[in-house]
Amino acid sequence: MTMKNGQCRSCGSFDIRSNRNRKFPALNTMTLGLGNSSARYAALDTYVCVNCGYVESYVASPEDLNYIQDNWESVGVKCENTVRSRKNSDQLPPRHDEHWRTQTLHS
Ligand SMILES: [Zn+2]
Repeated sequence: MTMKNGQCRSCGSFDIRSNRNRKFPALNTMTLGLGNSSARYAALDTYVCVNCGYVESYVASPEDLNYIQDNWESVGVKCENTVRSRKNSDQLPPRHDEHWRTQTLHS
């Protein structure tokens, strides 16, 4: 779900405003990297929910997205770790306590 579709991701309001067709210089920029002579910036399209104030930003041009794909590090998918830690807690054996109890009964 994205606010480009006109609905707020946070509160569900349909009153979304955008500076996409801005007639003013883009002040929302992000540094992409160091170019040959000066740093390279990307202009951001910003979407604002005027009901709750939630803001979403998108890189505006496909060239900037290509640059990021070539130069930025990939984050990767991290859900594998959470699956692993869940398995570990499942393996905590409740049998250990039972075993100890039967031993004390015998002695
Ligand atoms: Zn909202």
